[in-house]
Amino acid sequence: MLPSFHRTYKESRTVSATPVETSPRKRRKRGEGQWALGHREPLNKNEQGKKDDNPLNVRARIEGIYAHNGFDSIDPADLRGRFRWWGLYTQRRPGIAGGKTSTLEDEELDDRYFMMRVRMDGGQLSVAQLRAVAGISTDFARDTADVTDRQNVQYHWIRIEDVPEIWRRLEEVGLDTQEACGDCPRVILGSPVAGVADGEAIDPTEQIEEIYDHFVGDKSLSNLPRKFKSAISWLPDIPYECNDISLLGAHHPEHGPGFDLWVGGGLSTNPMFAQRLGVWVSQEDIAEVWVNVVRIFRDWGYRRLRTRARLKFLVKDWGAEKFREVLESEHYLGRELPRLEAPPVPEKLIDHIGVHKQADGNFYIGAAPVAGRVSGELLNKLADVAERHGSDRVRTTPMQKLLVLDVAPEKVDAVVADLEAVGLSANPSPWRRSTMACTGIEFCKLAIVDTKDRARDLVAELERRIPELDVPISVHLNGCPNACARTQTADIGLKGQLVLKDGEQVEGFQVHLGGGHASQASFGRKARGLKVASADLDDYVERLTRRYLDQRESGESFAK
Ligand code: SF4
Repeated sequence: MLPSFHRTYKESRTVSATPVETSPRKRRKRGEGQWALGHREPLNKNEQGKKDDNPLNVRARIEGIYAHNGFDSIDPADLRGRFRWWGLYTQRRPGIAGGKTSTLEDEELDDRYFMMRVRMDGGQLSVAQLRAVAGISTDFARDTADVTDRQNVQYHWIRIEDVPEIWRRLEEVGLDTQEACGDCPRVILGSPVAGVADGEAIDPTEQIEEIYDHFVGDKSLSNLPRKFKSAISWLPDIPYECNDISLLGAHHPEHGPGFDLWVGGGLSTNPMFAQRLGVWVSQEDIAEVWVNVVRIFRDWGYRRLRTRARLKFLVKDWGAEKFREVLESEHYLGRELPRLEAPPVPEKLIDHIGVHKQADGNFYIGAAPVAGRVSGELLNKLADVAERHGSDRVRTTPMQKLLVLDVAPEKVDAVVADLEAVGLSANPSPWRRSTMACTGIEFCKLAIVDTKDRARDLVAELERRIPELDVPISVHLNGCPNACARTQTADIGLKGQLVLKDGEQVEGFQVHLGGGHASQASFGRKARGLKVASADLDDYVERLTRRYLDQRESGESFAK
């Protein structure tokens, strides 16, 4: 049975009772497509697709029709729209060059294979789940399995015929792909060490599960204006400034430990950091607050233009105070939340690499693949290592890393050695530790340049040229402006584009310099001429690093 705070969409029809004021003139002139103001038309193509049929319904057609009749039987509106709600995108057809996407029709870009994202809320995996994920990779995905910066695992080369069997295997171990993509509440980021971290006052795992159980797959919340990204953690080990909603651990002087509420963050082409609403959320209230922020987004989010449909645009226009007022209004929460002065800003985002003591005296070990690239075979070996040493818990992180929990003190050295032997280093070079990459041109239809292979080569070269580095310098490679690997919050953020070299257009990057999170939170500066050809990237990063090392003053970070 659903809790009392679970409400259905019918309420949004009576939303005019809310205290939000809007300019009637503006509304008459040009609506933003907000349902709360009765703007159901005009609909763009995406909104039309969602209106025609709830995207979650596509699963029945995949299982009943498409998987039997093959790729050519798929309705294009399902293929390029509703499939996403079940974690499926067509992947890029091999051999199509980047940078010309605007002149190509969807059919020319689409491969007959799919990318599939497996949802892992909080990045939590048992060994049995890890083995199931690994087995699907080797059996159906040509051994692909990338760890994404949203704690998902992403496959490639999936055939439509295999999708029902993949779902069956995932669901057998309690995993799925539901709402892993699409305009809906996607995977919830959570601390990979929730429940074991030394110094954690509240473990919100139960609340993440509560949200997942009650609201993921709820059709009244599955047609949002755009994607909705969530992050819930006591520790600053999630990029809390870059999500539609974040709940970050904070102490209230009267109420004790709880969570600081942030809304409206997102990167992409119009990066905005989330804003604090200045309220304290108790552990018990997390799901209720979360669902009401989602409902505000559903009702008031801008649906006319896809480029303005993320929650961040609404939060920017309303401001934190008005958003809080609407959240607390009768139509949503219906009560005030305790006010919270700004808590101390965390110094940095924690990546959990290396060996760390848990609250129970055991240890967890964080290891780094290169830019999130692993494989089914490697995940199987990771499962072997965990199992051999008595651990049943593995975690993915938003930094594209992997953790093994619950290692007994006397087994730490053996686990570190075994991880190293399979290619997962718990003592990586600074370059391997701080480099991330999105999917890129290998599989992503929006990509302009290669990222994963480029990141691998860059890390290897920098390890050779500058093996010692006393401060981490993060390098994030992105195949296009969409910033899936957080272009703007890296020390060196790289946004894929075509650049001119010797009069020729070649793969390259626009460079963003000096971005960061937490106490260093800022978007990297994008100087007009700061572009580099992909082939020159090793030299460029080396030059920048040496200049920083030579010229820095005591304690000066790369970002400053
Ligand atoms: Fe694809 Fe662009 Fe996202 Fe990279 S940043 S995964 S190229 S959409």
